[in-house]
Amino acid sequence: MEREADLTQAHHIFDLKYRLGDLRASSVEGATLLRLADGPTLITAPHSVTQVRAGREKPAEFWTGAIAETLGITLKASVLTALSPRVEVENAASSDPFLQTLIVTLRARAIRLVFDVHGLSGTHGLDINVGSAGFREPNLVDDLAKDLTACFSVALGKPYNGGGSITSLINRSTDIDAGAIQLELGPRLRSDTTNSSDLWTLTAVLRRFEEAFLRVR
Ligand SMILES: [Zn+2]
Repeated sequence: MEREADLTQAHHIFDLKYRLGDLRASSVEGATLLRLADGPTLITAPHSVTQVRAGREKPAEFWTGAIAETLGITLKASVLTALSPRVEVENAASSDPFLQTLIVTLRARAIRLVFDVHGLSGTHGLDINVGSAGFREPNLVDDLAKDLTACFSVALGKPYNGGGSITSLINRSTDIDAGAIQLELGPRLRSDTTNSSDLWTLTAVLRRFEEAFLRVR
């Protein structure tokens, strides 16, 4: 997809179904979107629709499903998002149909790298918070944060480092040979006016990270 207009149009259309998924009564329980690509990377958005965590309802992290799908196209990566509310006993790494689909996918496919996309509240004043709990090549993560900083306001490891989440679950797994990075995205990358230039910049940085990661692992 080369034309700018095509990318933003697809991005907005992707987003529509997550708004529909947020209409609780009309969603199929435990529904996920799983799009498989040939590449080594998987993009996940576990909070693309409303979640129920520890009995409390948490709002959808809007646009994260669309971001995951758009990055799936630009990076030629596989994509896993939630289409109906997740019920998480404790956190995003708690077992439910979404997590089971993730584990089955990681075991069945040659996935080497996971970008786990979340929504960061505007109160943090950041564009991107990178989390890498348990990631085995910290120097690569430093390079990723530096690369992102050229265009975005970035924090590494704070307020979130990916601990107690999908990122640490994958990085610390003894039977899944993949690395995971958590990307908490602030309002700039999750709004009606997010532009294709930012989406392509994010794509380029993540591709450089993917290439560096595959060289060392
Ligand atoms: Zn989240």
